[in-house]
Amino acid sequence: MFYLERLPCPVLVTDCSGLVLHTNLDFRNLVGPSESGTMDRYFPPASCIFLQTHAWPLLFKNSEFSELYMQLLSADGQRIPVMANARVSEVRGKRVVIWLFFVAKERQRFESELLQARQQAQNTASQLAEVNRELVRAYDQLAAYTAEVKTEADHLAHLSHTDHLTGLGNRRALLLQVDRWIKTASDQDVGSLLLIDIDFFKQVNDRLGHAEGDRVLGHVSSQLQKSARAQDSVVRYGGEEFVVWLPYSDRRGAELTAQRLHDQIAQAQVSDQLITVSIGLSTLTLQNQGTNRYLERLLIEADTAVYEAKSRGRNRTVCFDDLLGLHSQPA
Ligand code: GH3
Ligand code: MG
Ligand code: MG
Repeated sequence: MFYLERLPCPVLVTDCSGLVLHTNLDFRNLVGPSESGTMDRYFPPASCIFLQTHAWPLLFKNSEFSELYMQLLSADGQRIPVMANARVSEVRGKRVVIWLFFVAKERQRFESELLQARQQAQNTASQLAEVNRELVRAYDQLAAYTAEVKTEADHLAHLSHTDHLTGLGNRRALLLQVDRWIKTASDQDVGSLLLIDIDFFKQVNDRLGHAEGDRVLGHVSSQLQKSARAQDSVVRYGGEEFVVWLPYSDRRGAELTAQRLHDQIAQAQVSDQLITVSIGLSTLTLQNQGTNRYLERLLIEADTAVYEAKSRGRNRTVCFDDLLGLHSQPA
């Protein structure tokens, strides 16, 4: 058995019933001085049971086993975790069992470090989950704030395109509408514009007061809206001047709309004063013009035509084209 002393681990030799035959120095250093008797005294009760129920049957079946986890008892009663390996051998014609033990403290430490690491990972995961919940909350708040800002921006955009007295669109709204049309229309498409100016409006203010003047402006604007088609835009262009923009409408269509406007507005009477309007009509094909240039030309022509309508006695429509002698029809 001399060679067993040279093995770098605790070694125990028993017979096949567990009687101790030999121990090496490492073993004695680990568990205390060697004594005769069974090997069971080197193990705590749980490991003894494990020996009987598992280790010995395995040994008898395979003549060896390796890496079974057990505990040894040190001389002072401490439990020492070990990995046990055993083999049945023949020594001088006798069957013996050679038990090698590897102290598993390192392994235990490794396992506990592993457990710690797992615990830390779980902690980190739950911290991450909390951070994630906070992010979701922050995102919700941001989304609500963005929606608020957008509503506010929409409201401001609406106000910036709206005339506060009549609720109609203003000049910016007109530019926007014409611009939208130009983006979808082709060069040959035609559009018309009616510039509408209330006749003798100053007299309304002077005779009946500014508030009554405002009421007339409101009334005229609602009459204009009634006369326009769904695709038309009615805007208050300035003081007592309005514009009706008629996309895809030629001169004939625009004249019909203008006539409806005269009829509709004539129904209004403020005290003893009948309200009438003068209308300047301009019709132009797009001809590859930009929005500003196209709208500017329509407005200049319509303004010239309104001026002519005023000088011809008011309460009428004049087409700019007639002023150029392009059409013989009287206004
Ligand atoms: P014409 O037939 O030539 O158009 O004569 P008019 O009196 O309508 O035109 P004029 O340009 O002399 O007067 C327009 C008046 O419109 C002057 C101004 O006090 C009035 N006005 C402009 N804006 C408002 C407004 O918001 N409310 C009221 N009540 N009056 C306004
Ligand atoms: Mg005017
Ligand atoms: Mg006027």
